[in-house]
Amino acid sequence: MAKKTVRDIEVKGKKVLIRVDFNVPQKDGEITDENRIVQALPTIKYVLEQGGKAIVFSHLGRIKKEEDKAKNSLSIVADRLSEHLDMPVRFIPKTRGEALEKAIDELENGQILMFENTRYEDLDGKKESKNDPELGRYWASLGDVFVNDAFGTAHREHASNVGIAANIKETVAGFLLEKEIRFIGGTLENPDRPLVAILGGAKVSDKIGVIRNLLKVADHILIGGGMAYTFFKALGYEVGTSLLEADKVELAKELLTEAEGKILLGKDVVTAKDFDKDSEKNIRKVTEIPADEMGMDIGPETIELFSKHLKDARTVIWNGPLGVFEFPRFAVGTKAIAQTLAGLKEELTTIIGGGDSAAAVIQFGLADDFTHISTGGGASLEYLEGKVLPGIDCVLDRS
Ligand code: ADP
Ligand code: MG
Repeated sequence: MAKKTVRDIEVKGKKVLIRVDFNVPQKDGEITDENRIVQALPTIKYVLEQGGKAIVFSHLGRIKKEEDKAKNSLSIVADRLSEHLDMPVRFIPKTRGEALEKAIDELENGQILMFENTRYEDLDGKKESKNDPELGRYWASLGDVFVNDAFGTAHREHASNVGIAANIKETVAGFLLEKEIRFIGGTLENPDRPLVAILGGAKVSDKIGVIRNLLKVADHILIGGGMAYTFFKALGYEVGTSLLEADKVELAKELLTEAEGKILLGKDVVTAKDFDKDSEKNIRKVTEIPADEMGMDIGPETIELFSKHLKDARTVIWNGPLGVFEFPRFAVGTKAIAQTLAGLKEELTTIIGGGDSAAAVIQFGLADDFTHISTGGGASLEYLEGKVLPGIDCVLDRS
């Protein structure tokens, strides 16, 4: 179902509440990756250009005790945002109260303020994270309309997304949320076929929901990464010391039967004796993994086989690295597939969901060669599982 976006409402002269995901990584008080700030800019700029009064907020980290507050203040993000917008961003170091309300009253059209980390409210009974009704009502009372652009928390029912939405007349999607809905939701609903899914990552148990849902919509599923070994075991092969979830072998068998040939496992793997970045590499057929070796990556024949399938696709959804990509020696398969997809960018839509998968592609310097790299880790996984995400569900449908 198509959702209303900020383009569909009047924002001029309105107090526009904008929930973004500014949960940026930091080290020693410095922001180490500002991607989330950059991704939120189009929505914020649009509201300001249209003459709205922007009230921007987000969570940052977790607040369990008083000491967590100082290191998770959003003030450094406000400064960075101000640099990007090339205009002042007034920061109110509170999540409620007179100072905040007065600052909002003082906002002129086209001006912006940010208030403090929504999770400061978690210290007192987890009000934000447990969607305390009073808190959602209060925040909603600060604005005229609500723009949700925080895909990263869309799988959570918090006061700062669904709580506000429940108490305000209009809740619409920002441009980032719109993009995630279009690419992930749209593809799952009505893909341009053939749709090929690539699934990897560490464990089958993390991805059962994703496999099940993609079995319903994908034409082919290519499986690599750590979870492939539970499938090899299900086929009766020995997997040496590879990552194996013995209690999921039966499930893997069921999935293979249900898949009726849709699931494609590799032909060869790259193994090592130890889980180590310098461990020596061997290439083994999947039916011949020695007892003292573990699978670390997909092998060259598998790269070729997978690439052939990708060339015939119109849409590709990728979740989970195909090997231990953190070790360059075992990143070869993941990188080769990323390069294959990058080379096909004119012909097909390529979508990446999953925190580590996104990190891998960014690490390879190929981020610009994909149609869409999801900004949500947990949220994109749950979306791929076919779940209704509360942060999307609370946005008005386009009639
Ligand atoms: P995502 O975050 O994209 O959903 P996951 O979290 O499921 O992906 O999986 C990522 C992890 O899987 C990486 O840390 C990677 O090292 C690991 N992995 C991939 N292949 C293997 C393998 N063969 N053996 C062990 N771990 C693997
Ligand atoms: Mg992960």
